[in-house]
Amino acid sequence: MARPPDISQLLSGTDKSANGLQELEKPKFLTKAQRQQLLLNKSQKREDIIPTVVKPRNKESEVIQKEDEEYSQTSRPKFNYDTNEQEDTLSNYEPIVSIRAKDLMQRPRDSIEQFYMGKHWTEKTRQEMSDRDWRIFKEDFGITIRGGSVENPLRSWYELKNEQMADAIVKNLKYHEPTPIQRAAVPNVCNKKFRDLLGIASTGSGKTLAFLIPILMKIDQLPSRPLVLKKMDGPLALILAPTRELAQQIEKEAEELIDAWGKNCEVASIVGGHSIEEISLQVSQGTDILVATPGRLIDCLENHVLTLGKVETLVLDEADRMIDMGFEEQVTSILGNLTQKRQTMMFTASMTPGTEKIAAGYLKNPVRVTVSGSQGSTPMIRQLVEHIGSEEQRFQRIVEFLPQYRAPIIIFINYKRAADWLVQKFYKETQYKVTVLYGSKSQEQREQSLQLLRKGKVQIMIATNVAARGLDVPDVSLVINFQLSKTFEDYVHRIGRTGRAGHEGTAITFLDDEDPELVKELYKYLQENNPTGANNFAPRLKEKYRLGKRRIEEVLY
Ligand code: ADP
Ligand code: MG
Repeated sequence: MARPPDISQLLSGTDKSANGLQELEKPKFLTKAQRQQLLLNKSQKREDIIPTVVKPRNKESEVIQKEDEEYSQTSRPKFNYDTNEQEDTLSNYEPIVSIRAKDLMQRPRDSIEQFYMGKHWTEKTRQEMSDRDWRIFKEDFGITIRGGSVENPLRSWYELKNEQMADAIVKNLKYHEPTPIQRAAVPNVCNKKFRDLLGIASTGSGKTLAFLIPILMKIDQLPSRPLVLKKMDGPLALILAPTRELAQQIEKEAEELIDAWGKNCEVASIVGGHSIEEISLQVSQGTDILVATPGRLIDCLENHVLTLGKVETLVLDEADRMIDMGFEEQVTSILGNLTQKRQTMMFTASMTPGTEKIAAGYLKNPVRVTVSGSQGSTPMIRQLVEHIGSEEQRFQRIVEFLPQYRAPIIIFINYKRAADWLVQKFYKETQYKVTVLYGSKSQEQREQSLQLLRKGKVQIMIATNVAARGLDVPDVSLVINFQLSKTFEDYVHRIGRTGRAGHEGTAITFLDDEDPELVKELYKYLQENNPTGANNFAPRLKEKYRLGKRRIEEVLY
């Protein structure tokens, strides 16, 4: 825009800006009549554009109209709305609410919700699901999925688009609905992108099937391998688990799923307690899926019993436990034997700095699935903490309340010595059938112990922390901490043996003289995790450890 002429230009009669030198019109004096004429000309020009206003008929408004015209001639132009008066904005009127409140009140509650919200997600096809439906769905199941371009969860097994697999799960295994971690994890690893996955969900939430199903579906898509190739190339999927019991349990669950599915797929396990010769024989039969504990697998790799070059899917189950048990270095060494092109899934019940670190090191741009809330991380466990000192008194107390609970029952102890003592007590003084599970027992004895409990041949298993993680004995109704675990994390894993897969369970813990920090943590945990509302922490212990009092004291002093 050109600058206005400055005073010197005005005086000299030239405008040096814009298009070079221009002659400026000399200012000249206008009479009042001339000025009014000029204004009149301008307003006439404007009336060509502005539609003429309909002249009012009555006298009074004529006066107003005149005044208006005078005003428009002498002052700023009046603003005119750019609307066509023929247009009736109300002609397409659609009421937002077309039902009267009175009628609404007579409808049942569900139908009110439906009337306003539209159909519930259960009545919609997957394509009909809106963003809002998905949000509600994920909230309902406590699911969070992060990681960019992620898949929405499964609403039913049949959304797997593999009817044979869905039938196997629903009709043969009788798992009618996926658990939240299965809903969220499966579609995110089964799609064509084969992305890595980090799955975080509490114990007993069905993580095993969440990785077994994708593994089987992936193997099924590959051309079937003749036996010679299976023997030569080794497994296509490798699952690493921290303990032998857990590895064998995964193997068993995989076999059950394959049986239900009716396809040809071989599973094998490599765990401590089996000789290299035994393992070598088993592996030489040809395997598709290998379940192993890190230590034993390294032995086998060093002895060239098998090759892992064709492994396309790797699962790190119970990754938190794997780190706690000091397997990090061994896992890294095993990973060195695998191809970079693999898909890796890591499952854990809790995220600790250690698990974050291995997730960052082993997973490439993973989808991160977290399950929380009542369906996920808070199993339905009633936690009771009692103040009982001697071992004898603790035993008597157990005998007192045992009739209220049905088998299977697990009693956790910290020392093998206490286990042996307890077994003797049960044997001599009660009718209960009892078995033991601890680390120094032979592998065969350990397996037999678990089988006895699972099959209902014994009612009670006395165990050290070996059984605390990952092991699934269905329907454990009661967990007793005969002695409090040394770490708080172990407490959570121990009680997690009950309240699994939506069942309610009870955990009873005996305390006397323990580490006050541990007791404080336990007290806090009971306050914060009370899904049944029936947790109880013995008042005498609260006094002894001065729990729940501090706030009052702070107010008083
Ligand atoms: P996690 O590995 O998360 O601790 P598991 O995979 O061991 O849990 O599963 C716990 C229990 O839940 C097992 O007994 C398993 O058979 C059962 N389960 C798994 N999936 C389902 C499902 N979709 N519906 C019902 N029960 C299930
Ligand atoms: Mg598990």
